[in-house]
Amino acid sequence: MQNDPRSHGLWERTAPPSPATAPLAGDLKADVVVVGGGYTGLSTALHAARDGLDVVLLEGVEIGFGGSGRNVGLVNAGMWVMPDDVPATLGREHGDRLLDLLGDAPKRVFELVRMHGIDCELETAGTLHCAVGAKGLAELGQRAEQWLARGADVRLLDAAETAAKIGSPAYAGSLLDRRAGTIQPLAYVRGLARAALEHGARIHTQSPVRAAEKVPGGWRVATETGSVTADWIVVATDAYTNLPWSEIRTEQIHLPYFNFATVPLDEALRRSILPERQGAWDTKDVLSSFRFDRAGRLVFGSVGALRGTGARVHRAWAKRALARIFPQLGDVAFEAEWYGQIGMTENSLPRFHRLAPNVVAFSGYNGRGIAPGTVFGRLLAEHVAGRIGEADLPLPVTDAREARLRRLKEAYYEVGAQIAHLADARL
Ligand SMILES: Cc1cc2nc3c(=O)[nH]c(=O)nc-3n(C[C@H](O)[C@H](O)[C@H](O)COP(=O)(O)OP(=O)(O)OC[C@H]3O[C@@H](n4cnc5c(N)ncnc54)[C@H](O)[C@@H]3O)c2cc1C
Repeated sequence: MQNDPRSHGLWERTAPPSPATAPLAGDLKADVVVVGGGYTGLSTALHAARDGLDVVLLEGVEIGFGGSGRNVGLVNAGMWVMPDDVPATLGREHGDRLLDLLGDAPKRVFELVRMHGIDCELETAGTLHCAVGAKGLAELGQRAEQWLARGADVRLLDAAETAAKIGSPAYAGSLLDRRAGTIQPLAYVRGLARAALEHGARIHTQSPVRAAEKVPGGWRVATETGSVTADWIVVATDAYTNLPWSEIRTEQIHLPYFNFATVPLDEALRRSILPERQGAWDTKDVLSSFRFDRAGRLVFGSVGALRGTGARVHRAWAKRALARIFPQLGDVAFEAEWYGQIGMTENSLPRFHRLAPNVVAFSGYNGRGIAPGTVFGRLLAEHVAGRIGEADLPLPVTDAREARLRRLKEAYYEVGAQIAHLADARL
């Protein structure tokens, strides 16, 4: 996108084309204007349009330009936070509601994909969270216990079972989460856009919202080339927030994350790695993730930005790390590389904001936005339709406040990832 092969990498090359859209022109009226064309915005638009609301969605660049077109494609159940820590942080009512919603969220994604015939390389074989050493295994043991107490379909695997599922003896065990799966992320978000259009939503790309003002009976949002007047504004811009809601950007700490995709592997290699096609990641602080795409490319990622010295450091590390985990790969070539920014919050949980009366936002997914963005979008649609109130949402209303030491932490993440990957060379 925008002639940058490192923004959406493999996904841009293999996703079905985006539906045709044009910039906003003239002055429109609608029930709700959605700002941002990722999972949150498009799920809101699709569900609201399915409910009969008149919806206009404005996207600053292209469908899936933000995290939705760049991510790993792991459709996870729950957040990074340990399950029992969620009610401890949010209170029992919100916490239990959030865990129930997110535990079920991958199923909702799979249903949407099937219902709307979205061609997005859906795999529903689950995910494997892989334990690095005894510490990693202890953490996963705790996680398994807490999810099992909530009736979740997860299972702790020992080292031998994990080696068989991964195709590598590198891990001390793993947590198999059968609720989860993988998708081609850009294909999924483009499919949501197509479905929303089919249900009557109007989508305008290349239409960055520059201003929002209260007008009698609603809100008017303006781009360079037009405006939309609506009762409600749904702000769905997360880590790619541009003006005018910059507080959503500054309450987050951006964590860069990259991916490399190998060339398609031959049949024997494909059978030797992740033979059941789960998506996987590990318990390290500077974590790694890996999964296959439909054509048999192994997509391998970790923390870091592929710019400046980072591009060289992380590429060299990815080669070494892959060779260590999967020696059977030999000197495999990479065919694509890309990276993006993950929006982290101070308590590692997403946020619900009422930015002004009838201006609402979910954001701060902490690297877990595919399934959560999809189900939060549905809730936002129900909220603007008047079917559920703020008190029924899974998160309390909070103010967006600038994160402490934000710039310092962001620099630390980017430089720290390079140092970690350089140090890893010597292990
Ligand atoms: C590299 C990477 C790996 C990740 N891996 C995973 C994973 O495996 N699993 C998972 O669940 N999550 C993952 N995530 C997180 C996930 O991608 C995000 O949480 C999710 O995409 C957020 O969706 P969204 O719709 O809220 O925002 P986005 O997809 O970021 O969309 C926001 C959109 O708003 C637009 N915008 C901003 N300002 C304006 C404006 N003023 N006017 C109009 N439009 C505007 C942007 O152009 C952008 O397209 C990852 C993220 C990254 C970056």
